[in-house]
Amino acid sequence: MTVQGLFSARANAAAQISAVPRIAIVGRGFSGMMTAIALMKTVRAPFHLQLFDPNSSVSGGQALASARSSTILNTRVRDLSVSVGDNDDFNDWLCSNAAFRAAVPAAIPGFRQIFVPKEIFSDYVYQRFSEALAARRDITVQVCNDPVVAIRRSHGHRFLLESANPANPLFDTVILATGYGLTAPDAGGEDVSPIRAQRLVARPHAVLLGSGIRVVDQLLQLRDSGYAGQVTIVSRRGFLPQSHTPNSADPVFPAETLPQSLPEIVRFIREACREAEESGRSWQSVMNGLRKHARSLWRSLPARDKHQFNRHLRAIYDSHRNRLPEAMHLRLRRELAEGRTVLRRGRAGRRGLSGLFFTPAGSTAEEVIHAERIIDCRCQAPDLSAPLMQSLLSAGLAMPDELSLGLAVNARGEPFLEDGSTVAGLFAVGPLGLGSLPDIDLVPEIVSQAYAAAERVSERFYSQVKAV
Ligand SMILES: Cc1cc2nc3c(=O)[nH]c(=O)nc-3n(C[C@H](O)[C@H](O)[C@H](O)COP(=O)(O)OP(=O)(O)OC[C@H]3O[C@@H](n4cnc5c(N)ncnc54)[C@H](O)[C@@H]3O)c2cc1C
Repeated sequence: MTVQGLFSARANAAAQISAVPRIAIVGRGFSGMMTAIALMKTVRAPFHLQLFDPNSSVSGGQALASARSSTILNTRVRDLSVSVGDNDDFNDWLCSNAAFRAAVPAAIPGFRQIFVPKEIFSDYVYQRFSEALAARRDITVQVCNDPVVAIRRSHGHRFLLESANPANPLFDTVILATGYGLTAPDAGGEDVSPIRAQRLVARPHAVLLGSGIRVVDQLLQLRDSGYAGQVTIVSRRGFLPQSHTPNSADPVFPAETLPQSLPEIVRFIREACREAEESGRSWQSVMNGLRKHARSLWRSLPARDKHQFNRHLRAIYDSHRNRLPEAMHLRLRRELAEGRTVLRRGRAGRRGLSGLFFTPAGSTAEEVIHAERIIDCRCQAPDLSAPLMQSLLSAGLAMPDELSLGLAVNARGEPFLEDGSTVAGLFAVGPLGLGSLPDIDLVPEIVSQAYAAAERVSERFYSQVKAV
């Protein structure tokens, strides 16, 4: 049976069941779908699950959206398993997929080292979700296409979700998986009217805003679709993604005690990278090793250093951790070397009739970059001013992290308050925790957090049953 079939078969039953615990997941991007899988595999007691997202497809969200299905993920297959404790799950799924095996024969005996398009990853997540659901006849799942605008406490320790549908009842557990927030319908689209601009622009010219994976992805997609014009990448800091190594770089990190201050840590990492390169290993292995220490390092930094990191080093860190498959990196380098694509560091301003107002770094003089297309590829931080976030903050159910990048959360995704206490039953999984947990916007970290949150939900249900 399809997932939609399973939903409709059980939706009516859901409405009638009120005694079982009710769980809401707000957001059906990767974090939401992953948490749903983790809950179905971890919480042994029956429950009702309701998934909210105005994105009408179940596999919505930035990373799994199907609109740009050709995007190559920049994480190797071996790091994308959604099954905790079984790192080979995605590889095994690919191996059992005859069509994929036929298309990629060279990767025998396995696909652990390769990079796959996100539509394949999406299919895998979707299938694991369907299987987890099919294996649980004791739970009900309902999909709601409404945005959630507010959450508040009600009836003691339960939560009331406010959306367009007044019939949404109370929930015992709420998991926020809202990632980068609600996407505006035209987000990422072209802002200058191509017809009008074409009259003003002598040569086809596209401006891409941003510097991360999405910029490179957009650039290569333009080229693949035959775009032969000039491309300018406008980036505030000017750091484009670095390259992966041809084969996976096993994590290494010097085992000695790590320094305590930010400048010393930076020096230490530079030195470790230099030594790794000199001894025939790669700086990428050191970055992979650093990611394993990132959480404790981040915790130990004083707030002043965290702010400094965010202002001056985050862009560099991101360009070294979010790396491109070698082949994509090579294409990017060729574009830049041939001058078909130019990187300009500075601040993007408003859009005019014929292009983009731009202030180069180190200058105060604004200029216009004439272009018939401006495509915004910047990844926005979670939006704390969104009504949903504001409702949580004003009700004292959560507080911003030290950098106000998102909510202050612990490793299980539980938002914590000024006195260190957590609100029972409330979780925030994924990028909402970016200011508290480094790399929590990446698949491996989201997978671990989703299972940790599901364990906590399970413990809570169990203790409630025992109390009764
Ligand atoms: C092009 C691309 C490639 C990537 N490649 C990789 C990779 O190779 N490896 C890796 O580790 N990571 C990768 N990532 C990053 C990672 O996958 C994402 O950071 C992660 O998937 C975040 O997913 P999410 O579900 O938390 O957030 P999102 O994808 O932002 O989804 C959030 C969902 O919540 C919904 N929502 C928001 N607010 C509300 C509300 N109030 N009510 C209801 N619904 C709401 C939105 O509509 C949206 O569907 C990639 C990201 C992108 C964009």
